[in-house]
Amino acid sequence: MDAETVHSFAKRRGFYWPSYEIYGGSAGFYDYGPLGSALLHNLMEHWRRLYIIREGMYEIDSPSIGPEDVFKASGHLGEFTDYLTTCQGCKAGHRADHLLEGLEKNPDALEADELWTALKEHGVKCPRCGGELTEPEPFNLMFGTGIGAGKGKKGYLRPETAQAMFVAFSNLSQQARKKLPFGVVQIGKGYRNEISPRQGLLRQREFHMAEAEIFFHPDEKRWEGDEELMRTQLKLVDQNGEDRAMAAGEATDKGIIRGEALAYFMALTQQFLVDVGVDPTRLRFRQHLQDEMAHYAADCWDAEALLSYGWTELVGVADRGSYDLSQHIAHSGEDMGVFIAYPEPRKEHRIRLVPDLKKLGPLYRGKAKMVARAIEDAAPPEGELMVEVDGETIAVPDTCYVKEEGEVVISGERIVPHVIEPSYGLDRVFYTVLEHNLDIGEKGGEEYRVLRLPPDVAPVQVGIFPLMTKPELETVAKEVMTVLRKSGLATTYDGSGSIGRRYARADEVGIPWCVTIDYESLDGKDVTVRDRDTAEQVRIPIAELGEHLCSLLRTRSG
Ligand code: AMP
Repeated sequence: MDAETVHSFAKRRGFYWPSYEIYGGSAGFYDYGPLGSALLHNLMEHWRRLYIIREGMYEIDSPSIGPEDVFKASGHLGEFTDYLTTCQGCKAGHRADHLLEGLEKNPDALEADELWTALKEHGVKCPRCGGELTEPEPFNLMFGTGIGAGKGKKGYLRPETAQAMFVAFSNLSQQARKKLPFGVVQIGKGYRNEISPRQGLLRQREFHMAEAEIFFHPDEKRWEGDEELMRTQLKLVDQNGEDRAMAAGEATDKGIIRGEALAYFMALTQQFLVDVGVDPTRLRFRQHLQDEMAHYAADCWDAEALLSYGWTELVGVADRGSYDLSQHIAHSGEDMGVFIAYPEPRKEHRIRLVPDLKKLGPLYRGKAKMVARAIEDAAPPEGELMVEVDGETIAVPDTCYVKEEGEVVISGERIVPHVIEPSYGLDRVFYTVLEHNLDIGEKGGEEYRVLRLPPDVAPVQVGIFPLMTKPELETVAKEVMTVLRKSGLATTYDGSGSIGRRYARADEVGIPWCVTIDYESLDGKDVTVRDRDTAEQVRIPIAELGEHLCSLLRTRSG
């Protein structure tokens, strides 16, 4: 299926369309229409069921705008860049690595000078007008803004939802009663001023993310979840390009996936994607190449789906070590360490330095107390004792302190937790679900479309059709609709056109069950329920209809 078919279908049936069209549009922004919003929210709800209810993680909801300090610490201000090359003729900006796709092996890993060399070597010109290109330069993807009036404060729209979970770590670990591991999630918008938005929902400037940050003791990266998941078969393409299907647990034992918890969250990611309708035969996990991986990451795998655009990243699952928390500790001064008590207190033989304040006073005057504290914190020196006080290095004579030796009881240690992060782009999942489930076949010599969505992902679960436009049938049909809506089923009413046309309209937007009210419904009080996928029809008493459909929904949802 080509992407154009999906885009035009999505627009015609109200799933999504480009924003601001009456003003000429603005690249990289999309509206979700009535059916699209419902489908997107169903994806989010499914995600919440998995991460919050089943895995027991906490959810937070934080602002989209953050002060500059946050992004200085996270590294986004300095490093969240793509390389921009501009056409000297038409002045259009292009992502330099995109222009090298198909010409270089892994263009997004190239630095500015390498990109420039490759662009020249391949004779790449402006794809719009054929003009000469400028040397690539870094372009920061964050949208800047001002916070407050007057001079105000510099702020940015968040490029991801994750930072809030690191910044608020102390509050969150308190909620977890300072016990590791624990997980925190956030669903919300991310904003990136992409140089070249493209491929519809896949590369936008404002998009939906669902991110989980799971905090671990650095030496105990294990998550007590559903053991069955470790037996899930994953299709893995490792750093060497080796392609194999293997259970998550086995891939951990063999060291292909570096860590049990990472493998667990990859398997959970697969479960989510398949549950919501991603075709498992067009799904794989690709390990980041060494030069693609962030320098602090221990391992990183992308869940990729095969789309008409080629293999596309839907979710990144990474072991980020202690990088994020350490950055915020260094920049904010907040102690985000977690105290881990040993099972039994340990006794250790230690040499401690005890400052002599009488000697320090005359020597260091106003700074004497600070020097004393620095001596207490210092390790016994090999030669002369050097301490840092107020940015100054001071050599302390050995007459100013004494060494005391003895046993000390240590009850535990402070550690900076490591984090494993599954980071989902929900718009990409949404698009994949449409492309993988839109089944275009033929019926009676005409094209016939069925959107084979899992019932709980489908934007509408039940279509209500009075067989004919007769008041007595319409009254009962509307009563049935009210009952179904009260039982929580998303229900739509369609009273126009032949029943065949109405089934076709319902199939095209993925409605799993259609209920037809006919004259027998008035007498016998039962209705026909038709199944989208089997086209099978059964008679169900109206009194049992709500429970019948709700139970189908429970059993047929992923
Ligand atoms: P990243 O933080 O770059 O790994 O992004 C996390 C996820 O967000 C990716 O796996 C994508 O699914 C999604 N994503 C990243 N950039 C965009 C974008 N410009 N438009 C839509 N989705 C995106």
